Amino acid sequence: MSSKFMQTVKLMSVAAALTFGAVSTAQAAEVLRVGTEATYAPFEFMGDDGKEIGYDIDIVKAIGEIEGFEVEIVNMGFDALIPSLLTSQIDAVIAAMTITPERAARVDFTAPYYNSGLSVLIRESDKDKYKTLADLKGATLCGQIGTTGAKKAEELSGGNSKSYNYESEVFNELKAGGCDGAVNDRPVNLYFLATSHAEDIVEMSEMITSEQYGIAVKKGNQELLDKLNAGLKKIHENGTFAKIHAKWFKVAE
Ligand code: GLN
Repeated sequence: MSSKFMQTVKLMSVAAALTFGAVSTAQAAEVLRVGTEATYAPFEFMGDDGKEIGYDIDIVKAIGEIEGFEVEIVNMGFDALIPSLLTSQIDAVIAAMTITPERAARVDFTAPYYNSGLSVLIRESDKDKYKTLADLKGATLCGQIGTTGAKKAEELSGGNSKSYNYESEVFNELKAGGCDGAVNDRPVNLYFLATSHAEDIVEMSEMITSEQYGIAVKKGNQELLDKLNAGLKKIHENGTFAKIHAKWFKVAE
């Protein structure tokens, strides 16, 4: 083979490498399919333009930006999130999801990113009837399907709870008298009180549990878990996390 020919081949492959290199960086941004349940303001809910917005959405997008991946939000029922992760229909879950031992046996969680807990909303007219959590035994309590709140509703009511797919249904039932109390994550209850102008609804003063949220990935997906944890750490360090926090919790916490 002539050396001239070889030189041409070499030049061509350099050009090809450059071209493909450029193309692949432009397209490379890996897309991470992130499942959520978008009726849980302020963590995830639908904005006026029909797109998911909220604290969690901002957090995962900020992590994506710093770790070099794009985020595609996939909205579904809360109880479908872990099954979808297990069957690889999504890559991660961010849904105000409490790290519980039962869940941690099925999926892996990042480091906690938010400290939360449950509280109960009741109608103001019932506030003398339900002073302590113990008074809720026998009351009808509602919560969102598959959540720690729904589980607690069942416990506190003594087996007299109702679960709903959407958080909006839980609040509507409480207002309409379909249930006597709604058990939810406290920041979600407070956000509802601050934004819905439901003046006949109040929060019971006793806080039930202390919980922490994590981002979930499929068990053993260490590479993604490491990336998410690294991203979380970086957005804490560069101030983005604090900004997101301030943006969503100027209303209530
Ligand atoms: N933190 C609660 C849980 O993990 C509620 C989450 C939610 O409804 N999005 O069960």
